[in-house]
This record gives sequence, structure tokens and C-alpha cells, in this order.
Amino acid sequence: MSQVQLRFYEELNDFLPPELRKIAFSHELARRTSVKDLIESFGVPHTEVEVILANGRSVDFSYIAQAGDRISVYPMFESLDISPLIRLREKPLRDPRFVIDANLGQLARYLRLLGFDVLYRNSFTDREVARIASRERRIVLTRDRALLQHKIITRGYFVRAVKPREQVREILSRLDLYGALRPFTRCLRCNGELEDVDKNAVLHQLEPKTKKYYHCFRRCKACGQAYWKGSHFNRMEKLCDYFTAPSEPAPMESDSEVKREPP
Ligand SMILES: [Zn+2]
Repeated sequence: MSQVQLRFYEELNDFLPPELRKIAFSHELARRTSVKDLIESFGVPHTEVEVILANGRSVDFSYIAQAGDRISVYPMFESLDISPLIRLREKPLRDPRFVIDANLGQLARYLRLLGFDVLYRNSFTDREVARIASRERRIVLTRDRALLQHKIITRGYFVRAVKPREQVREILSRLDLYGALRPFTRCLRCNGELEDVDKNAVLHQLEPKTKKYYHCFRRCKACGQAYWKGSHFNRMEKLCDYFTAPSEPAPMESDSEVKREPP
């Protein structure tokens, strides 16, 4: 008999079948296995895990599970002081740059609206996302657990919410990103940074009405797209308020808002 006892804590339980949630349960080790593979065999992506204790002692992902081990698996901690324990990464999610899988385009645009550095293409393959994340040390955002099991991804977050606006609120809250918001500083189309420009520099891009009524413009340093505080701007501001204030009522516009006209 080579059984271990496992317990997953807090939101890691989201990934478990109901009968295994929030309890210590026994598991038969079929073969020699690292604790990383053991954890992922229950559908919990390793990127969700911050601390692993085996018999009360911190271990890393390469630890080989031993018969009789009591293994506790903890998620990313945002508020709990775990400094005496070994974290699995040198620091938690404090460098909020992202790469987003091909299915979450609206989330990518919303996060850019809030000023986050977000790489996204609707043609991204899982392998590309994993490679970018590894090379550029970006956090992967996805609703695909299999993607997060790629070994080279060290930072990732499985997005629980289905609707894009709820996804934004979830991510800001779970990764505690409120201090990193810089709304209206990034291009929604290409992720480039915006700079203030003279109206003359973007005149050729403007419709006659825009030329007449607006005088302050910004331009994407990467793709040249012009931005101004047009009719959508107030609604976009409300949207930002909604993302950042939990009690804020949802604005009326649809999720396609950001696609149509940037501020
Ligand atoms: Zn751009």
C-alpha cells in the first residue's frame, strides 16, 4: 500500500469533484510521481498553487510523493503572511503583464482599457501562449486548464467567470491589481502605449465632425491609431468604475462596446 493523504485549500477546490472538496482524502500512488504531477492529476493547474506542505514541511514541485505523506496544497496567497514557508516562485503575481489565450479576446481589450500590458491574438495556439509566457515572464490568463499544465508556464491564472466583464472584476480582485491600474494609456487594438500628440499629427485619420469638435488627441506609438474623448468616453469611464468598484451597478452597454470606438 502506498497511500498519501491530500488536502486542497481555498479556491483550489474549484477544480476538484465535489466529493473531494475541502476534506483530507486518501489517494493510492500508482507509480513514482512528483507532487506537481500528483496535483495536476486532480485537474488543479500547477500555476494556481503557491505553497505545498508535505508532512508540515514546504516542498517544491519536484518533490517525489512518499507513502504515508500528508500533503497540503495552497493557492496564491494575497493577504496571508506565509513568509516562513517556501513559495514556489520567487515572488507572486506582482508583475502584471499578461498573455491571453485565443478565446478571451474581449477580456484582452478590457484589460488594455485599464492600462495593462496584454498580448493577445485570436490566432494564438496554446504552444505560442506557453512560449510567450515563458520567454517574457508573462502571466497566462485562460479558461483552459490543459494550457496551464504546460511545464514552461510558471505564472498563470484560470479564469472562473464566463462573461468578460465579470472576468475583469475577478482578475483585478484575485490578483489584487487595483494599484496597477492606468486606464486610457494603452491601445485597445495592438497593446501599444499611447502618447499625447498635436491634432495636426492625426488630422488625416479624423472624420469632419471629430475635426470640428475635439482638440486633444493621443496616438498609439505602435500602430498610429488616434484616440480622443469622443462620445464613448463617458461610457468607457463608467465601465472602468464598474470594473474597479465592487458595488458599482453594471453599465448598460454590451460587451461589444470596446470593439466599436476607442476613447
Ligand atoms: Zn495600436
